[in-house]
Amino acid sequence: MLSTLAAFWRGRVPGQVVIQYTDRCNATCVQCGMRAGNVFPRSTMGRDDARRLIDAMAARGVQAISFTGGEPLLCLKDIVELAGHARAQGIRYIRTGTNGFLFRHHEAPDFADKMDRLAETLAESAINTFWISLDSADPAAHEANRGLPGVVAGIRKALPRFHARGLHPAANLGINRTTGGMGAHYLTPDEPAAFYQKAVQAFERFYDSVADLGFTMTNACYPMSLPEADTATDAVYTATSTADMIRFTPQEKVQLFKALYDVIPRRRHALRIFTPRSSLLALIRQYERGEGTAYPCRGGIDFFFVDAKDLNTYPCGYRGEENLGKFWDLNLTDLAAAPDCTRCDWECFRDPSELLGPLVEGVRHPLRVLQRLRQDPAMTRVWWDDLRYYKACGFFDAGQPPDRQALERWRGTM
Ligand code: SF4
Ligand code: SF4
Repeated sequence: MLSTLAAFWRGRVPGQVVIQYTDRCNATCVQCGMRAGNVFPRSTMGRDDARRLIDAMAARGVQAISFTGGEPLLCLKDIVELAGHARAQGIRYIRTGTNGFLFRHHEAPDFADKMDRLAETLAESAINTFWISLDSADPAAHEANRGLPGVVAGIRKALPRFHARGLHPAANLGINRTTGGMGAHYLTPDEPAAFYQKAVQAFERFYDSVADLGFTMTNACYPMSLPEADTATDAVYTATSTADMIRFTPQEKVQLFKALYDVIPRRRHALRIFTPRSSLLALIRQYERGEGTAYPCRGGIDFFFVDAKDLNTYPCGYRGEENLGKFWDLNLTDLAAAPDCTRCDWECFRDPSELLGPLVEGVRHPLRVLQRLRQDPAMTRVWWDDLRYYKACGFFDAGQPPDRQALERWRGTM
């Protein structure tokens, strides 16, 4: 708490780094350059290099790290060990996740035992957020895209075993045109009002299917595309694509974000939904009015991405032209500048930037922030509501079940 306040006082937010531990993957997602079958030299960091990076991060006050891929659980032992190392170095929030490949073959006689062992390994580790990717309310659409048949039924069977061991995974939706399913639910281009209605149905179907599967927590990844026509070559984190399934026009994004903004309050009591509506409101305004978001992204200032292939640091997964070198050589004070980037919608960085922005400003310039909050009552109300909701969710601690009473109390104040 004190270190967070001290960071705010210096105009910084607690540091966060996305570490791409490996770019190897065994899934075939059309929306991603790292899909199996896409030929390029694959890399995995290795524990010694990763430990050195983590030590440098801890020494610079980084408070949160995410181990991403590729598929992180191809390196489960390494990730568990590195999570323990990070915690021992004082890093508080450690996240990782999976494309779900271990949930295949749910009819095998040893599936339950395997799930118990996996759940125990993760629950006993220092990992405090664990996500499972899910692209669609329609299991067949999700499994066809991922090339992982049977995973959804496997997730349904595995979740109670995870919960029994005190680990509550989050369903991680990468928003795409199949979010609501195929056929009539596929998000084809349409008039804005019709597209909005289809998107509302898609998100409602998705959240309902996730709750039905047994998840208690969920997050949404905004479409991984930059405004430019061909962006995949610029992005260092190649979880990007020009595939139609994942690309939306700015006009479609307005309707997409509005739909999510409107659906979330109707499902927040049933699921702990990480996605902050203040961030969605800022994105809607940005795409609709060309208005700068209230609090720009802290990528390259407090948040960073480290690439598996060369261990180099980048401001984020997109700004591949800005190689900042090795994290252990970084002087974060030299890098400090006022945040101003809104080039993409990467929720890993945009969501916390938007949520924490008023708190940073409030510590340093209380009058300025009060004035800003008064001038924009709609945003102020939504932001304050996000904070209250996060509290009701126990700040999304995957080690805790949902506090249904707190969520109902929060619902009663809506
Ligand atoms: S989105 Fe994830 S699971 Fe799918 S191919 Fe890319 S890295 Fe693999
Ligand atoms: S807005 Fe996007 S491109 Fe800009 S720093 Fe943040 S994550 Fe990177």
